Amino acid sequence: MHQLIKLNYDYTALEPYLDAATMEIHHSKHHQTYVDKLNQALEKFPELQTLNIEELLTKIKSLNLNPQDQQALINFGGGVANHNFFWQILDPHNQPNEQLQQEITTTFGSLDFFKEKFTQAALSHFGSGWAWLVKDQEQKLQIYSTSNQDSPLLLGHTPLLTIDVWEHAYYLKFQNRRAEFITNYWSALKLI
Ligand code: MN
Repeated sequence: MHQLIKLNYDYTALEPYLDAATMEIHHSKHHQTYVDKLNQALEKFPELQTLNIEELLTKIKSLNLNPQDQQALINFGGGVANHNFFWQILDPHNQPNEQLQQEITTTFGSLDFFKEKFTQAALSHFGSGWAWLVKDQEQKLQIYSTSNQDSPLLLGHTPLLTIDVWEHAYYLKFQNRRAEFITNYWSALKLI
């Protein structure tokens, strides 16, 4: 059984940038629902129940499941893994990651230019989804967005940073102002 991960910090810890009410609903309701639905979708696949979430998503497309079952596991498994990663990178105890900063600077020229490109990916994504900084299979950094709960793990990419741009991630505090949410995300993020 997959479990909802506990946060290493309080729902209030990212105030004033990300508000406690959104954090609580997002983690205890939305994320919990993905966990519950993933467990339901896995009921008929005992052989997949022992895989951790990263293994499941990495392998899923090679398993020859019927398309409906595969899509359910991509949606709910992605919902679990993406949120796990989002809470982890937002941990206020995180320290600036100098190696990551160096790799970003090498690839994109500067941290500021990287932030601009990532922000653009998050802002221009149409509908529900996520923006990502990943390391691809050739160890190159890439920025892109994915729809719904699609995870870069499906492509064999390693997530380095992400932002959730589903409306549930920001609507309560920022309503339709996704740009303002992204600005506050950068303020909350300690890694870079
Ligand atoms: Mn979300």
